[in-house]
Amino acid sequence: MATARKIKILCSTCQKAAGVLTCRGCNNAFCSRDVIKHRQQLNRQMDEVGASHDQLQQLIVEHEAQPKCHPLMERIDKWEQESITKIHQAADDARKQILTIIGTHRAQVTDNLAVLTQELSRARDEDDYVETELKEWMEKLDQLKIDLNAAQTVYFDQNDSKT
Ligand SMILES: [Zn+2]
Ligand SMILES: [Zn+2]
Repeated sequence: MATARKIKILCSTCQKAAGVLTCRGCNNAFCSRDVIKHRQQLNRQMDEVGASHDQLQQLIVEHEAQPKCHPLMERIDKWEQESITKIHQAADDARKQILTIIGTHRAQVTDNLAVLTQELSRARDEDDYVETELKEWMEKLDQLKIDLNAAQTVYFDQNDSKT
């Protein structure tokens, strides 16, 4: 009579006792003592998975707390600052240019007025002026006023892309 010999499977851990329980995950057989150890080993691995999970969750919380902490944000901040500096520089340059033009213009008018001042002073001293001269001086004064005001209409091209 052919009776199937009972093949004794040994515990995969101690290799001594019979492996009475087989783990469905790794297909290894364990004795009743080592099956507990195997389970504890799995528990430790589960703890590692849990720790990794918690770490990621903490990272998300930190990112939420500091939404601006991103390399691109720093680049945008830097670009903003550099652009503001450039605009300030361009505005300063434009102001200096205008002041120089106005200053030059005013100096010219002042020089021409000084000439007229001497002329008027001489005429008054000698008391020999007539209507034509009075008219001429008045015209000169009017012209100097026009010249002075001309500096107010200096053309400034806002689209100048020199900078
Ligand atoms: Zn297993
Ligand atoms: Zn064992």
